[in-house]
Amino acid sequence: MTDCHDPIIKRELFEKVQIELARRQVLINPRYCFSSKIKCRICGKNFSRRSHKKNSHKATLWQCTSRKKSKLGCEKIELDEVELKKICAEILALPIFDETTFAEEIKSIQVLDDAHLAFEFYGRDKKLWSIR
Ligand SMILES: [Zn+2]
Repeated sequence: MTDCHDPIIKRELFEKVQIELARRQVLINPRYCFSSKIKCRICGKNFSRRSHKKNSHKATLWQCTSRKKSKLGCEKIELDEVELKKICAEILALPIFDETTFAEEIKSIQVLDDAHLAFEFYGRDKKLWSIR
């Protein structure tokens, strides 16, 4: 009888299990470039992503997690993801939005109200941005 506790087989199996677990985690709780980056000034919670469909027009919006979960306690501020990417590209002086550059340079985006954002960078001063 051969040894069924072959360490190589065990390690391969372990790695396969780890990959599968990571894959499932992404399905349950997908990560987006703006996840944990956009902060609500009022309650301090992060903004979370929401897909919105209205008259066959699809939009992806970011809004305060407290608002999403309880429907009260926080202001209704919705940021359109496409708009948000345009602003970030402009702030970072990029021709188009780039997730890697965003992740490396922008520490957080604080939502002051529905028209003003405060960008916090790694190693540079804050920058205020008016949407309108
Ligand atoms: Zn909030």
